[in-house]
Amino acid sequence: MMATLIDFHCHVDLYPDPPSIVAECDRLGIRTLAVTTTPKAWPQNRKWTQSSTHVRPALGLHPQVVAEREHEMALFEQYLPEARYVGEVGLDAGPQHYHSFDAQLRVFRRILGLCSSHPGRILSVHSVRATSKLLDAVEDLLCPGSSTLVLHWFSGTKAEARRASDLGCYFSVNRAMLDRKRGDLVQGLPADRLLTETDGPFTMVADRPARPSDITETVSELASILKLPVEKIAGQLESNLRTLVAMGESRS
Ligand code: MN
Repeated sequence: MMATLIDFHCHVDLYPDPPSIVAECDRLGIRTLAVTTTPKAWPQNRKWTQSSTHVRPALGLHPQVVAEREHEMALFEQYLPEARYVGEVGLDAGPQHYHSFDAQLRVFRRILGLCSSHPGRILSVHSVRATSKLLDAVEDLLCPGSSTLVLHWFSGTKAEARRASDLGCYFSVNRAMLDRKRGDLVQGLPADRLLTETDGPFTMVADRPARPSDITETVSELASILKLPVEKIAGQLESNLRTLVAMGESRS
């Protein structure tokens, strides 16, 4: 029997019928982190997932919407005590979003401070073209051992990956990271810090938006890049998630 499947970064609330995605994850046994992009989305996502066996909601404020929604930090602070998972949060210094980078930094630094005073949080973090700045903020503001970051769709350098893992970060890997060019970076990530993700519906599989059930393919591609049997890598991923979640529980 196959180990538990993991989709640690999926925008469940952005599919046309979120409850059907939650039901599918429960039916197929896919442990899924339902990330959100604004604090306003938290109450509804909490409702959709409250009786789910496999889907957990995350409280988010996406760096790409910070320009318009920085004021929702008040809501973020209000909801954080009831949110074990945080995401999608982070920094985006790509050309389209660089104009709001100062505001993004303000928000992300505030979130790290809050996650230090509410320990035991697990954060799914976006870091486009901003890994060094992001890790600087983590070093400055996140009390060591308080909360754990999972870098989603990591696209930094090998040196940045080493620095992130020295700071205790995990990495959630999706199929876009498993092509020939970037597979090399994934091979260098510590095996005991890896998770899988789809980032659906923003990624595509055969011309349709990816779903958590597509994670089976991600696990096989990861296994082939790491030159390990699928069962072995699936077992490793399951044990990584178990460690991560247990760490959160022991700290809160
Ligand atoms: Mn995302």
